Amino acid sequence: MVASYDFVVLGGGSGGLAAAQRAAEYGARVVVIEPARLGGTCVNVGCVPKKVMWNAAQLAHALEDAGGYGFSVTRHGHDWGVLKSRRDAYVKRLNGIYRRNLERKSIEWIQASGRFAGPNRIVTDQGDDIRGDHVLIATGGYPIVPALPGAELGITSDGFFELEALPRRTIVIGSGYIAVELAGVLRALGSEVVQLVRYGGVLRSFDDVLGQQLVEHMGAAGIDVVTGAVPESVRSGEGGLTVQTADGREFEGFDCLLWAIGRSPNTAELDLDGADVATGPSGHVVVDAYQNASVNGVYAVGDVTGKAQLTPVAIAAGRRLADRLFDGQSDRHLSYENIPSVIFSHPPVGTVGLSEAKARERFGDGSVRVFRSEFVPMYNALTEHKPRTVMKLVTVGEDERVVGCHLIGAGADEMLQGFAVAVTMGATKADLDDTVAIHPTSAEELVTMR
Ligand SMILES: Cc1cc2nc3c(=O)[nH]c(=O)nc-3n(C[C@H](O)[C@H](O)[C@H](O)COP(=O)(O)OP(=O)(O)OC[C@H]3O[C@@H](n4cnc5c(N)ncnc54)[C@H](O)[C@@H]3O)c2cc1C
Repeated sequence: MVASYDFVVLGGGSGGLAAAQRAAEYGARVVVIEPARLGGTCVNVGCVPKKVMWNAAQLAHALEDAGGYGFSVTRHGHDWGVLKSRRDAYVKRLNGIYRRNLERKSIEWIQASGRFAGPNRIVTDQGDDIRGDHVLIATGGYPIVPALPGAELGITSDGFFELEALPRRTIVIGSGYIAVELAGVLRALGSEVVQLVRYGGVLRSFDDVLGQQLVEHMGAAGIDVVTGAVPESVRSGEGGLTVQTADGREFEGFDCLLWAIGRSPNTAELDLDGADVATGPSGHVVVDAYQNASVNGVYAVGDVTGKAQLTPVAIAAGRRLADRLFDGQSDRHLSYENIPSVIFSHPPVGTVGLSEAKARERFGDGSVRVFRSEFVPMYNALTEHKPRTVMKLVTVGEDERVVGCHLIGAGADEMLQGFAVAVTMGATKADLDDTVAIHPTSAEELVTMR
């Protein structure tokens, strides 16, 4: 028997759940097909457990700083097992909240994997046969393990969250935000960390200042960032894991190898070809500005589209899609401009808008003016470590409209959201100058730059 719904959602992660719930609020009959735990990557193996680990790492740094403020604390070790079990329990509580939210909104959850059996028809590995007026693909992605000899000896971010003990020596491979975040956590909690990056630095898709500064901070924290290192093979021996790079260097003696080299979309199992749903070269579902896929009545949001792979982006795109499909808001769609993001490194990075290089490319050198501030935060006046905060504003045109705001330093994570509002509203440098500072904070530098 074929079951019919107004809205069939493949994937119970950030984007799928947000779209499903908004659609149900408008009275649509909705089913979510999700084989694993509700909440997807973010809740189970992404943002949430990552932030818990980052908080733990922040505490480790605070313990190091406490002496400067007169405390006689020493680090008596750290119990990874306690942290993991408390973190896992928190995530489990969230899974329950997500399930109850679905129940409250009368959204059906089929715990199965789905695939297309036609443009509007989904079948599952549990034998369900479902028809939907509208079908949303929100199946997210998975971490890539390269096709190299011995690569399977490593783990990915998924495996990081399964670690039962702190690795003694870790080699992290990758230069993106997940690589630097997990390297920072492991180091702060006591692992020796070597990080191999393919090119000259980290965070290469962001403004140059952020990666350059972060590498300095990572070095000061004891992370050995090795540039120009392209892994070619991995082997295991008595002394642990050895990674050999293309230029013949060997890095040995690790009990943990962590691949953080990017993510691929979960599309291979969906039989998209059979339903004529077009995908791009790396398997992402091709969508237009309204999240429409290439077939009428089929849509995609979130990581599976390959665009700005962040939880709030998946949620915003999903909710707007439901507004459009089930509430007649015909032009409702997400603008992918000025999406703010934070990297939970140590210290954190916050960034919104255009990098200086992108602004120069788009508007020409003559139109771009950059303001920069660099200082040791007041918190560190009394601590042994003196990490520098760097802030950069990128402005364009005679009115100096702020098109980029890039921060690295303590508090950048919580500072950015409000400035992202200002950038989205088209604030000029004069608007920032006209805003009274809050003293003494690091954020006040953003309204007092000259
Ligand atoms: C380590 C890490 C840290 C991160 N940190 C942050 C952060 O700090 N901030 C931030 O904004 N983002 C962060 N992200 C990114 C964020 O997790 C994703 O952008 C977000 O989860 C994408 O949501 P989604 O709905 O597109 O996919 P997902 O949340 O991945 O959900 C997809 C769901 O689809 C399911 N699925 C797969 N195949 C099928 C199928 N055939 N049928 C049915 N269901 C299927 C999966 O089981 C999964 O539950 C992080 C990611 C990682 C890996």
